Amino acid sequence: MTLCATAGTRWIAIIAVPLMLLTGFSATVVGVISPTGRLPSAPTTFHTYNSVVSELQNLSRDHPSLLTVTPIGSSWETTQGLANRSLFAVEVRLAGGTKQDVLFMGLHHADEWISMEVVMYLLRYVLLNAGNDSRVDAILARANLWFVPIVNPDGLEYARQYDTTWRKNRRDNGDGTFGVDLNRNYGYMWGSGGFGTSTNDSEYPGTVPFSEPESQAIRDLARAHPPVLSISYHSAGQWVLYPWSYTRLPTPDDDRLSNFAVEMAYANGYQVLQEGRATHVNPGNSDDWLYATLGTAPFTFEVGLDFNSQNARSIGAVDRNNVEPALRGAEMALGLRNWRFDMGRVTAVALVAVAAVGGLSSVYFVYRWRRVRRDNPIAVLH
Ligand SMILES: [Zn+2]
Repeated sequence: MTLCATAGTRWIAIIAVPLMLLTGFSATVVGVISPTGRLPSAPTTFHTYNSVVSELQNLSRDHPSLLTVTPIGSSWETTQGLANRSLFAVEVRLAGGTKQDVLFMGLHHADEWISMEVVMYLLRYVLLNAGNDSRVDAILARANLWFVPIVNPDGLEYARQYDTTWRKNRRDNGDGTFGVDLNRNYGYMWGSGGFGTSTNDSEYPGTVPFSEPESQAIRDLARAHPPVLSISYHSAGQWVLYPWSYTRLPTPDDDRLSNFAVEMAYANGYQVLQEGRATHVNPGNSDDWLYATLGTAPFTFEVGLDFNSQNARSIGAVDRNNVEPALRGAEMALGLRNWRFDMGRVTAVALVAVAAVGGLSSVYFVYRWRRVRRDNPIAVLH
């Protein structure tokens, strides 16, 4: 009986220890980390421009002391009298004290519907947990949070109604083509890559930097409230990207920015990459302009469970997976979290190491003890 039990224990140890190591390691490295606060319910269908506007009105009615909805500009079609679509910025602010600013943006690109959902969800997470969660409260004590869920309202409605692959805004280029890629229209190293120079190109950057009313609106908002951190949500691919985007060369702050990206990506399992090292360099995006002009720590998240930016069934999972990274980003930028290393991760790795050493030592000693007893039974009896 004793023998069987000992042999059994040994085999359990031999199987269980590597299994524990494996699961612990994978949960530590690629798992999705949930935030500490309560998670709001997620929508099961995508918002439209109108449903975002009415939801923002409802939220501002429900949280009058916390939330302000401000029009920050108009879409191109609106400037032409063809539509009536403002760009809205939502500010979440606790009264009192001098604060820094943090900016979250969605839907620069018309077909990337999930990017708007992540911004709306993050806003609702903050509102639900303000006053109830110490992390959200610590962030709000130091920063005003700005949310622009739809940078490209004309493009969104065109994509919804006519062409789900549409990417740009809806400027009439005057040559039978439409649209400027808003995320190539920002004014730092604009047009330097030589890509998308044709008006018909999906990455057409416009005639001059900030030619579009939508990118002007973001420029003016950011200049008025320079963000210490910005996250611009795009889709898809599960990437956390950081500048430079116009070149493969690193920024002078590469250490800081890449560490931010790693710490955020650690929470949702995304991969980290400098933007300029993607398939081709992308000059004129919001990250490069924000970093170069305002010193923002700017990130682009390519969100999505797969390469479909319009899969309504994935809204909930993508929304929930992207709360913790945003909180971490804000915490690091506001000095609430160390970006050089994460004590939580260090502790987890240390615990796994201790468990590994302990487990392997037990196996070894059980083995040794059994050897000694078998070879020398009398010695053991004494
Ligand atoms: Zn995009």
